[in-house]
Amino acid sequence: MEFSFYGGVDEIGGNRIEVSSGDERIFLDFGTRFNVEGLYFEEFLRPRSFSSLGDLIELGALPKLRGIYREDLLRNMGLKFEDEPCASAVLLSHAHLDHAGALHHIRRDIPFYMTWESYLILKALEDTGTASNDFLHYRPKFHFTRKEKLVGNTTHKRSREKFERPVKILKPYCTEDAGDFSVTPAPVDHSIPGSCAYLIEGDDAVIYTGDLRFRGRRDHDSRRFVKNASRFSPNIMITEGTRIDQENSTFEDDIEERASAIASHHRGLVIVNYPIRDLDRFLTFYRAAVNSDRTLAVGLKQAYVLKLFEGLGYPSLDDLAVYIPRRGWGLISGDAFVCFDGEWIPASDLDEDYMIQDYRLWERDFLELDNTITYRDLQDEPSEYIFQCDYFEFNELIDIRPENAVYIKSKTEPFNEEMEIDAERERNWLRHFGIAQYNRFHSSGHAGRSDLIEMILDIEPEAIYPVHTRSREEFEVFRDEGIDVLVPETRK
Ligand SMILES: [Zn+2]
Repeated sequence: MEFSFYGGVDEIGGNRIEVSSGDERIFLDFGTRFNVEGLYFEEFLRPRSFSSLGDLIELGALPKLRGIYREDLLRNMGLKFEDEPCASAVLLSHAHLDHAGALHHIRRDIPFYMTWESYLILKALEDTGTASNDFLHYRPKFHFTRKEKLVGNTTHKRSREKFERPVKILKPYCTEDAGDFSVTPAPVDHSIPGSCAYLIEGDDAVIYTGDLRFRGRRDHDSRRFVKNASRFSPNIMITEGTRIDQENSTFEDDIEERASAIASHHRGLVIVNYPIRDLDRFLTFYRAAVNSDRTLAVGLKQAYVLKLFEGLGYPSLDDLAVYIPRRGWGLISGDAFVCFDGEWIPASDLDEDYMIQDYRLWERDFLELDNTITYRDLQDEPSEYIFQCDYFEFNELIDIRPENAVYIKSKTEPFNEEMEIDAERERNWLRHFGIAQYNRFHSSGHAGRSDLIEMILDIEPEAIYPVHTRSREEFEVFRDEGIDVLVPETRK
């Protein structure tokens, strides 16, 4: 079997690994290479919509590969569309964008394999995010369709058709065929639900770890994977190595304990910022709220994710409060006046039908809930709540005007210039409102050095390809253990 790496080598994420045997090939993940895209693009300098594929290929952010990309994007660039797809499947390890972010460039006849939880996370991103997040659907671009007029001539309009992509939902340890390969997903612990490693059988026995850790709430999943992977006697193991040069980080339980203590002793509002798709971290703050007799108030995007995960073992929306921000014209819960047929009236006199127009369609269902709150509730009873608030929602503080509030940042520390600038802006907001900040409430989604070494020695592959790391040289230690350390070369 052969392995080609189109991203994820000597960088954190951007995994796109081609596994082939003769004419058969599959891909392991198809993520965004953020460090390459970041060299050329930012918020206001983006790939052009008519040439998103071409612009990214030109700058090395996407590989020049035949038979993988969408027909509409290729044809619009005047390029040939191959009749046959080059791969039988893309196996997704988890729904973080450094693994899944480039899926929407892929042609619609290549099926995506993923767990049900990964499917739900991608659905949440697709439903609540921007238009280019069509991971699970295929909306053909550059298509006009015929529009019949009542009389006489016909005209054409831009097509808004949308097709479901072929997605195979995988069950833990249930083996499926992907072309000539047999693939078995093994759940692992990482900072997003539904993460899995893969056991792949062809001419070789191959392990792909995806991203994983051993100190979260699902460490038992990772340990079960190690046991099964060891029994599999792999020739090749493609292993992540994000933290091979660092020691293990704290346990998720430590964060819960420390957050509970702060929320119990503090009188004012407790504001928390954590990655909303990390549902184990959500659980940490949910429990901190229970432990301190508070209610966790979540934003609409978090509420949407939780609605999708209902019945999968997480707290239900009924056990939380859902925070409704003012949007658009600010008609809900403010002191706004609007002009109605030439007369200024209080917005609070308006019918519901007018108010909901401030919200996107997916948001409107939440407005009906009994347990919604607004900034007024957080103002009146700050000690009743832990308030989930992303950095991008800090403008809510202007409405809330919290007194004596504290802020717990439960995210990875800034690791590039852009993140430093955001962190500085974050501090400005907190300073303006006199809010004290607590840092280091984060536990990494990645195994540290000793856990990684133990995992690889337990699995005992003949050879490893280290990916998803900036410290590949640290893997040389495995040579002394009789494990061959292979060089994954990046191909363009
Ligand atoms: Zn990753």
